Amino acid sequence: MKIDQIGEFGLIDLIKGRTLSKDKSVLVNIGDDAAVIKPSKGKLLIFTTDTLMEKVHFDLRYFTFEQIGWKAMVANLSDIAAMGGLPKFALVTIGLPKSVSVENVISIYDGMTAIAKRYKCKVVGGDTFFSPKGILVSIALLGEVEKSFLVKRSGAKKDDVICVTGDLGEGQAGLELLRKSPRKKSSFVRKHLNPLPRIDEARTLVKNLKINSMIDISDGLSSELFHLTQESNLGAKIYEERIPISSKCKKAGDLLKKSPLLWALSSGEEYELLFTINKRELHKLEKVKKRIKVSLIGEMVKRKEGVVLQEKSGKKRELKKTGFEHF
Ligand code: ADP
Ligand code: MG
Repeated sequence: MKIDQIGEFGLIDLIKGRTLSKDKSVLVNIGDDAAVIKPSKGKLLIFTTDTLMEKVHFDLRYFTFEQIGWKAMVANLSDIAAMGGLPKFALVTIGLPKSVSVENVISIYDGMTAIAKRYKCKVVGGDTFFSPKGILVSIALLGEVEKSFLVKRSGAKKDDVICVTGDLGEGQAGLELLRKSPRKKSSFVRKHLNPLPRIDEARTLVKNLKINSMIDISDGLSSELFHLTQESNLGAKIYEERIPISSKCKKAGDLLKKSPLLWALSSGEEYELLFTINKRELHKLEKVKKRIKVSLIGEMVKRKEGVVLQEKSGKKRELKKTGFEHF
């Protein structure tokens, strides 16, 4: 069905029907001028936003409408994870071209709510507009965190151990496989189309360790390492042999004649967490490692030492901000 058959308000009614869920802290839901929320006692609010735009962040040749909604939500959930918090409420702005049907919009919301629900996060409002060029999905997400669990980028200390969750490079491997064959199905392709936010992992980390600094890898390991060092006024040294790259990812690199190391350094949208801890925390990390995959990839050094990768050969290379940058 075409959107102009039901109109903007008909569409909002449909969205309302699909997103409405009871929550005692939502005093006013979709339907008024603004949502009204009762904040939890003693928690800090975390407020973030992230946008997906057709042709910039996704391509309809290989994204379903569900996956667009899913990924837009994950980008925001991941920001909340990186601060150590839990997601709560979302406002969703959608820009729709004439070619998009009512069913397509419903699919975008179904994808979005499928992943949001896992973390008890609710859509409480948004905005809808006609977009002459391409689909836009922009989400503003409100989260909460206990003061003692809040983690920033700026808290790293010299000699902190640099750690990363999961495996790196697979997001980019998936994107390159999809560009070659848009119908491809593999675990990397899933990592690009249906990534998972590391909320549970982040909560395990902040509850069990003193995390000095943390950032989510949405623009590549190199780029995020630069942000972390800049915000903490330090340098960093990481070791090539410690960067977690799965054997499957290495195989994909052989197949596509690309360097998996470069993927790992520059792959955007990994949604893994990069964090630093004091060496004294390492024994506690051992326990945490039984529950989540964490790799120790390097250490924080003085600012003047820069951001350095020590290759397997022992050679040191100044790292560039090779992560994905828009401008
Ligand atoms: P206003 O004219 O005051 O901006 P709207 O007509 O845009 O109001 O929105 C009416 C209600 O519908 C509001 O509660 C708003 O949050 C909600 N809403 C509008 N668009 C969306 C959307 N795309 N997703 C979720 N809620 C929406
Ligand atoms: Mg509006």
